[in-house]
Amino acid sequence: MDYEKLRKELVEKLIKAGTLKSKEIIDAFLSIPREEFCLPAYKDKAYIDVPLPIGWGQTISQPTTVAIMTEALKPKEDSRILEVGTGSGYQAAILAFIAKNGFVYTIERIPQLAKFAERNLRKVGIKNVKVFIGDGSLGLKEYAPFDRIIVTCCCPKIPPPLLEQLAKGGIMVLPVGDHPMYQRMTVIEKRDEGDLRMYEIGFFSFVPLIGIYGFKSDSF
Ligand code: SAH
Repeated sequence: MDYEKLRKELVEKLIKAGTLKSKEIIDAFLSIPREEFCLPAYKDKAYIDVPLPIGWGQTISQPTTVAIMTEALKPKEDSRILEVGTGSGYQAAILAFIAKNGFVYTIERIPQLAKFAERNLRKVGIKNVKVFIGDGSLGLKEYAPFDRIIVTCCCPKIPPPLLEQLAKGGIMVLPVGDHPMYQRMTVIEKRDEGDLRMYEIGFFSFVPLIGIYGFKSDSF
């Protein structure tokens, strides 16, 4: 399989659709091999624009979704980023590639997936990411504040610890809602303490955030 050719074709499609816009995000999509974050049985589908199973009932997000969330997050070269929901590690790799002089802290509740992600990140040579095991709905207080926070599982409500751990001038992107098929992708800009700008950028479907400030179990 000529993965590089397939990768370029997918990126061109996402640019034409208006989903990928920023040069640094396009570079990241061209540089990070999505096939390395897929289970062996799904590698040949890595450049079809769909989510794919990664085990334990979870999925690697659809490339269109990763593109939309990354564009909304506006990561910078020196951003300190928190990701909740490491999964395969693909979104973390895209962010770490852009935040070359920054760092990505990513947290996953399923230990086997945290290991899977660590392996995948090592394979592609991404070093500025650390994978944590735990309940990401609590954030990572000891490393806060974060310039950017991205949640790649669906939140019933905005988890208060994440809002607290967002730096002044920071941006958070997260799907919010309690319908299993449709959640509102929400962007929050913290202009100052207590001065938030919030807007929504469409409907998406995610696996649930399970935790103290999330859902209580896998079923919505
Ligand atoms: N960003 C991932 C997509 C992962 S799917 C990727 O690029 O592949 C969402 C992930 O969130 C799942 O792996 C799920 O186990 C995880 N998750 C759910 N609730 C969580 C919580 N409270 N803390 C951390 N991870 C959580």
